[in-house]
Amino acid sequence: MAKNNKNCSFCGRLESQVGFFIVGQDGAHICDECAMQAADIVKENSTNQSKLPKLKKEQLPKPIEIKEYLDEYVIGQDEAKKFLSVAVYNHYKRLMQDKSTDDVEIEKSNIIMVGSTGTGKTLLAKTIAKKLQVPFAIVDATVLTEAGYVGEDIESILTRLLQVAEYDVTAAERGIVFIDEIDKIARKGDNPSITRDVSGEGVQQGLLKLLEGSIVNVPPQGGRKHPDQKMIAVNTQNILFVCGGAFDGIEKKIAARLNTRVVGYGAAKDTEHIDKHNMLQYIAPQDVKSFGLIPEIIGRLPILTYLEPLDRTALRRILTEPKNSIVKQYIKLFKMDHIDLIFDDNVLDYIVDKALEFKLGARGLRSITETIMMDEMYEMPSKKESSLTINLPYAQSKIEKANIYRLKTA
Ligand code: ADP
Repeated sequence: MAKNNKNCSFCGRLESQVGFFIVGQDGAHICDECAMQAADIVKENSTNQSKLPKLKKEQLPKPIEIKEYLDEYVIGQDEAKKFLSVAVYNHYKRLMQDKSTDDVEIEKSNIIMVGSTGTGKTLLAKTIAKKLQVPFAIVDATVLTEAGYVGEDIESILTRLLQVAEYDVTAAERGIVFIDEIDKIARKGDNPSITRDVSGEGVQQGLLKLLEGSIVNVPPQGGRKHPDQKMIAVNTQNILFVCGGAFDGIEKKIAARLNTRVVGYGAAKDTEHIDKHNMLQYIAPQDVKSFGLIPEIIGRLPILTYLEPLDRTALRRILTEPKNSIVKQYIKLFKMDHIDLIFDDNVLDYIVDKALEFKLGARGLRSITETIMMDEMYEMPSKKESSLTINLPYAQSKIEKANIYRLKTA
């Protein structure tokens, strides 16, 4: 066939009428324009057809199974684990519901978890993410500001989810978002603000839109640095939101509420049972409101749960029990050099004592252990020894020599 007689097998135009041809088998040709159109069709279809596998009821982990999985990595925090497990399970059930035939529509139950820093909120979120069959993103509320101010727009929360879902919009629309440090967007007082509060109430109003379920235009790359980027529309109706925050000082508000409630008959009896070391267990929505979250947001986060403060026993367990506990990690590191590492029991007690003394909580366990182990990690791989025992005098000498201020910034 002569060159100029060839036609595009799709639009029929001659080679002279188009830019160029791509040649296929058995004399087939496609012109540049048809190839571009074909690419667009492929792209469109792949965003409509989610790669996310269909959820099957029999394959879903039951709440007890989810909690057992969390138990492998997170010590204590039974109530928060139970609430999370149930919420995730119900989220799956909602997703499986056929809304066209079912007249009982299951509403979503977003969660708010309150607990001091370092008690395991993020760890719970990360651990549950590993078990999930839907996309899961962790975002930080501290960077959010009202549109038009320095910081990130509220929609950037969904950018993260889209990224995790590899821009599969359908999958992202069934996902779960963990918003950390939600307390940082509290308004500065219980009263609606008169002055501008760009990182507080305005952000909460924006967040409310996401929690309520609406179509949101999301910048695929996040931020505001690319003004001409094409927005992606995401429907938040089926996205489950889990919020976490330390709410520093909320104990005082709980105490104040409990005291005012116990005026009158039976008052003395009620207050006697209050465990003042763990006030968070009495937390109620009105405390979160007095802290500065607007009632509409609280209404959209109907499940309120708390994390326990970590006491000596919990810290000691954290050191050794989780599947990837700090001690297990060091043993593994040395094992890779064919060295059996042993920590004497009183060394582990000492690490916990120091974490409590420096008020470092669970985060301090790692930095203290690291300080004790640094010299051995440096020297042992070059020695020909096959075992190493860390005893108390050795651990004490390393901590006494260490710069405490560096430990404290862990
Ligand atoms: P939060 O989000 O509440 O501030 P994190 O979940 O980030 O705290 O906890 C910090 C670190 O402390 C975790 O990476 C983990 O090593 C340890 N940790 C905290 N709480 C627990 C817990 N309940 N069980 C096991 N490890 C914990």
